[in-house]
Amino acid sequence: MNFLSLIEVKREGKTLSSGQIKEFVHEFTAGKIPDYQMAAMLMAIYFRGLNTAETTALTLAMRDSGDVLKFLKDKRPLVDKHSTGGIGDKVSLPLAPLLACLGFRVPMISGRGLGITGGTLDKLDSIPGFKTLLPAGKIVEQVQKIGCVICGQTNRMVPADKKIYALRDVSGTVPSIPLITASILSKKLAENLDALVLDVKFGAAAFMQTKTDARKLAKAMVALGNECGVNTRAILTDMNTPLGRAAGNWLEVKESVACLDPSVLPASRWQIKSSQFCRQDASSTFADLRSLVLDCAAHLLVQMRKAKTLAAARKQAESCLASGAPRKKWDEMLAAQGADLNAFNKKLALDHPAPVVLEIKADRSGFVSKCDARLIGEVIRDLGGGRLTKESVINYDVGVDQLAKPGEQVEKSATLCRLHAADRAQATVAGVRLKAAFEFSERRPTLAPRITGVITA
Ligand code: URA
Repeated sequence: MNFLSLIEVKREGKTLSSGQIKEFVHEFTAGKIPDYQMAAMLMAIYFRGLNTAETTALTLAMRDSGDVLKFLKDKRPLVDKHSTGGIGDKVSLPLAPLLACLGFRVPMISGRGLGITGGTLDKLDSIPGFKTLLPAGKIVEQVQKIGCVICGQTNRMVPADKKIYALRDVSGTVPSIPLITASILSKKLAENLDALVLDVKFGAAAFMQTKTDARKLAKAMVALGNECGVNTRAILTDMNTPLGRAAGNWLEVKESVACLDPSVLPASRWQIKSSQFCRQDASSTFADLRSLVLDCAAHLLVQMRKAKTLAAARKQAESCLASGAPRKKWDEMLAAQGADLNAFNKKLALDHPAPVVLEIKADRSGFVSKCDARLIGEVIRDLGGGRLTKESVINYDVGVDQLAKPGEQVEKSATLCRLHAADRAQATVAGVRLKAAFEFSERRPTLAPRITGVITA
């Protein structure tokens, strides 16, 4: 293959054939195309784009670069959710066991943190003994047996994406709609799904900063997912404010368990807080998280015709969550993936595992009008909760919790959040930065809805 001429075709804004795309993906995965030439092709795609047929060809070639999961025929549909990433976005954790209890099979192949956005696998790595790297056979077996798995892609799944993504990351070609579409969907198609719900984030802490760009990406992914035989829809969600009240790997695991079972967070603490924050009870502490989990489940119930309307589906999901079954399923999933449940429960019972906790206090009374997700994400990354380089070692225990959110009224000196750090010096520096994440107003601000649109086929 003359790859140089293909780069020139795309550089001139012309169309590549499916055969040409299939061949260069195969050759690159096999190590027969040097990185500098592939980087030039990616940059040409970044500027010239790909049409629908080209994007489809790229997605399918990437999917077929490795193993595709194969499941036995079963009346339980295979479903998944994918988020484009945000701060405090832990939806996958409570959602997988909830979906399993609603009669789905969930082969949730997840990723690590990217930039300031947290990654599901990094969060799960904070659970003692939990294994996120499983062979394909074990993934299929666990899904068949208990209904859900959350793990990373094996070395043999979608290797083309691994190589292309690593190159995009260092060649300034990440924010390209066709490349993001192919990257995300190639991995989801390798799960052999019946239905997929995509949570496409927009805002200061998201990949797509504007709603318009997020909508474009969502439309492209929904069209391609459906064309490839997966019932796909997308929700557009706001990522200017963190989701829930906790961000940071372990703190998010704890909040996820609390979403499945609110008694995990001691009510007394929230009752004391409620006088400061106007919080009602433990379950209202992460109402936005719970609501998004239920909405994702509801969409999949409708997509798979297990419910006629979204309202009916949401009720079904709510009563399943309230039954306590998803909390038990969570433990089942943890045990199946090697977690030490005793050690996990001991860690859960701790108020915090980080050596230093600092309360960030309000300098004035008023309504919280801003809780800046981007700044909070940056602070957590710099505390060691995320990666600055590929070699960075994550500190799972750092982060923030008990976040005050926009719309809430606080008195002067009330706690705006707790900061968890490795030592006092880091906590002091981070504390000063964190304070700037909050803004206040005299009047209760009007809040934008978290979900602002649904894209269906
Ligand atoms: N997540 C992915 O897996 N790929 C992208 O390109 C962007 C987000």
